[in-house]
Amino acid sequence: MATPNLPTPDFAFDPNQPGACIAGVRPYRNGSYRLDAETISQSFIVHNYGHGGAGITLSFGCAAKVRDIVRDHLAASRGVTEAAVLGAGVMGLTAATLLLDLGLKVTVYSDRAPLETTSAKAGGQWAVSVVEFAGKERELTDIIKSAYRAFKDRIGQGFGVFERPNYTATRAHNLDIVLQLAPGLIPPRQPLQRLPFAHHTKPGFVYQTLLIEPPVLLARLKADLDQRGVSFVSKRFVNRSDILAGVPQPIVVNCTGLGSMTLWSDTKMMPIKGQLALLRPQPELQYLYGQNGYLFPRSDHVVIGGTFEPGVNDETPDKAVCQGLVDHIASLFGKAPAKPLPDIHIHNPVHAPIVNPAIPEV
Ligand SMILES: Cc1cc2nc3c(=O)[nH]c(=O)nc-3n(C[C@H](O)[C@H](O)[C@H](O)COP(=O)(O)OP(=O)(O)OC[C@H]3O[C@@H](n4cnc5c(N)ncnc54)[C@H](O)[C@@H]3O)c2cc1C
Repeated sequence: MATPNLPTPDFAFDPNQPGACIAGVRPYRNGSYRLDAETISQSFIVHNYGHGGAGITLSFGCAAKVRDIVRDHLAASRGVTEAAVLGAGVMGLTAATLLLDLGLKVTVYSDRAPLETTSAKAGGQWAVSVVEFAGKERELTDIIKSAYRAFKDRIGQGFGVFERPNYTATRAHNLDIVLQLAPGLIPPRQPLQRLPFAHHTKPGFVYQTLLIEPPVLLARLKADLDQRGVSFVSKRFVNRSDILAGVPQPIVVNCTGLGSMTLWSDTKMMPIKGQLALLRPQPELQYLYGQNGYLFPRSDHVVIGGTFEPGVNDETPDKAVCQGLVDHIASLFGKAPAKPLPDIHIHNPVHAPIVNPAIPEV
């Protein structure tokens, strides 16, 4: 018997509505994300940045690594009771959360509030997208395992985490990485004779993954940190010396995302702009969808995105790009005339498959 179709989205979209079209800049790092420690003067600095299009996904796993690095440092030091976290995006807030478990007094410094960060603009799929990990396969495996479990444990707990099937027209490299590195962590990819949507006739795949709603997650993490006595200081740093002079805590966890490009003169950092069209919420849509771009139905919006502009460090949205994204996905559902894609890299095939020969195919 043919599989019944899942509900078709309503693609009504007005790019002129305030907030309907947004842009963020992924903190991509050539070669690999950075997760290591160094001592400068009297400060023990732990770096945690460069997670590209996977910061939400990896956050709790990286935070666990940060906590372990700091725990080892504390074991070898005396009288250290305080830590600073630089950055109030998802990396900073999750690191601060797990540092509290060490009994430290934690202060977060940031020039943006959590809901103003890049993290708040993420689409929210749990997938290892646009992040490199050359030579760090074992570390990344630990990270994805602990991150996935941390999010699974938070389903239904007010963190904006849900289990969702993701229907894709082609194999999703960002989820195949998970299947390869951590077999059994998420259910295996299932081939489908056709995607279960109106106007879809071709074969595809379904993956089971998580949807994490970044605005809900960040607001909840912030509220929990407030309740646990973490101080938030609004401060903009201009360079490394400014940090060393202006942060009195002896442990400093650097979660400044793209800010590290300047603050730590990190020439491996590269901005990758992404744009999102935000449609009205449609709770009847309980799936994710991907085909040269993606559609993530969340409780606040149906999010359509998937653009990549490498080297572009500009958060100005382009209404024509957002409309083009909507028209493209709508055309796949037979709700708009087929049109060429917007003149922009969409799920840039050169970039998206960061194929690592050390990882076996599944
Ligand atoms: C369009 C788009 C879609 C995305 N979709 C997904 C997705 O579906 N799933 C996923 O996992 N990831 C996704 N991402 C990626 C994700 O958003 C990032 O990887 C993540 O936000 C990085 O988190 P962060 O905390 O390192 O950086 P940020 O969120 O940018 O936080 C950096 C913090 O550092 C502070 N800071 C920086 N410089 C300074 C300074 N000089 N002085 C003081 N403070 C400073 C900032 O104010 C901020 O608080 C997406 C990104 C974009 C743009």
